[in-house]
Amino acid sequence: MTATIIDGKAHAASLRAAIAGHVPAFRAATGRAPGLAVVLVGEDPASAVYVRSKGRATREAGMESVEHRLPADTDTATLLALVADLNADPAIDGILVQLPLPRQVDAQAVLLAIDPDKDVDGFHPVNAGRLATGMPGFVPCTPLGCVMLLKSVHGSLSGLDAVVIGRSNIVGKPMAQLLIAESCTVTVAHSRTRDLPARIRAADIVVAAVGIPALVKGDWIKPGATVIDVGINRTETGLVGDVDFAEAMAVAGAITPVPGGVGPMTIACLLRNTYVSACRREGVAAAP
Ligand code: NDP
Repeated sequence: MTATIIDGKAHAASLRAAIAGHVPAFRAATGRAPGLAVVLVGEDPASAVYVRSKGRATREAGMESVEHRLPADTDTATLLALVADLNADPAIDGILVQLPLPRQVDAQAVLLAIDPDKDVDGFHPVNAGRLATGMPGFVPCTPLGCVMLLKSVHGSLSGLDAVVIGRSNIVGKPMAQLLIAESCTVTVAHSRTRDLPARIRAADIVVAAVGIPALVKGDWIKPGATVIDVGINRTETGLVGDVDFAEAMAVAGAITPVPGGVGPMTIACLLRNTYVSACRREGVAAAP
């Protein structure tokens, strides 16, 4: 058996095209474009690449992208003042502070200062609470993209057994919440989990968000299962995921590649969240 490769690039391209198609009606109704502000502190090369591609994707979708680049020695007070300005700016619908922040900055204070109704990253505790309680809010982009990819394979996820490996606030926990909301039976595994292979072997859906190259082996996977590999690990041979791709290909029913799987969906979901935020703030119905 050879798994179907889930083409995240293609799914992301169609989501981005759909959003670009909705923006003109938003402009016509409100006289402005949805606006995303991205804040980058310091010179971290990976963060700079992410910020650049987020800005480009935002503009390509016909939305306004505002980038704030601050020096590496920026203090917490300066960042809080910038976030307060962006919160108050009616042209800004989404605020994203690129992580990680330099050590001298109180990252938690900065994230807490973002207006939850402009928190398109979905990292604010108010949005985590909304997700956990089934209220409308913003869902973190990476797990949101994973659910879209899973639905592209399965349609309904109801009743399926899912294992999420990783319990971070930005991927593992919101992923588990989303799968519960889709009526999966969810196991959340982490570094203290006993007999991880046995738990994965029982799962129809495996979402790996760990950060260890090729941690998940082919013989851990239930034949026909769907595997979503969130991991991005830089190795001597290039970017690899948390799943041994070659082994998993021989067992799984469907699998996301790294790169070209989950990653492209993350940015597309950021655009989606920004568009939805703009519609909510203007009282305009968001196109599905
Ligand atoms: P974190 O480091 O915050 O979390 C990793 C999780 O993996 C922790 O919960 C940890 O457990 C768990 N873990 C560590 N070792 C093991 C193990 N041996 N067995 C089982 N679980 C283990 O990472 P993130 O959630 O931020 O990111 C995870 C991966 O996803 C990274 O590779 C990151 O680069 C990638 N990523 C990709 C994105 C994309 O757009 N594609 C976006 C965001 C992240 P414990 O809690 O016990 O320490």
